Amino acid sequence: MGTGWAAVAISAGAAWMAEALRGGDKQLGGYVGTDCLFCKVVSGEVPSEKVFETEKVLAFRDINPQAPTHVLVVPKRHVGSAAELGTEHADELVDIFEVCNVVARQEGVDSSGYRIVTNVGRNAGQSVFHLHFHLLGGRPMTWPPG
Ligand code: 5GP
Ligand code: ZN
Repeated sequence: MGTGWAAVAISAGAAWMAEALRGGDKQLGGYVGTDCLFCKVVSGEVPSEKVFETEKVLAFRDINPQAPTHVLVVPKRHVGSAAELGTEHADELVDIFEVCNVVARQEGVDSSGYRIVTNVGRNAGQSVFHLHFHLLGGRPMTWPPG
């Protein structure tokens, strides 16, 4: 094997790494080796209070609750925000809303009502760039939101 092979191997490695860092390598099942807080919650590296889980989705309590029930529902595979969703996320989206139904029942807010919200980008106040749906309940809420 000459230096040509080595160069090909190195550049293939670099392309793989760039794609993984971008979070777009479907073969890896999402985002690997990067600094995403909710990927770390999913992997268990950052501890969380788990509320419910499926193969594709995790629900855990928000660290700074804004209502008596404040649960975050996230896809285990990294997605930056709702703006990045496509048909390839259909299964996860079905799971996310099924998990919201289960969590609402489990938390006892299904009959009183609750809000599901996801923030996209700066003006909406998104602070963690891994898709998450806030499920808020247990108190009356105003509309429009601030
Ligand atoms: P966003 O502002 O992006 O819509 O929502 C991010 C949410 O993540 C906030 O409600 C914030 O309290 C919550 N959060 C931030 N860091 C952590 C953490 O380490 N653990 C948990 N459970 N929630 C967090
Ligand atoms: Zn992530």
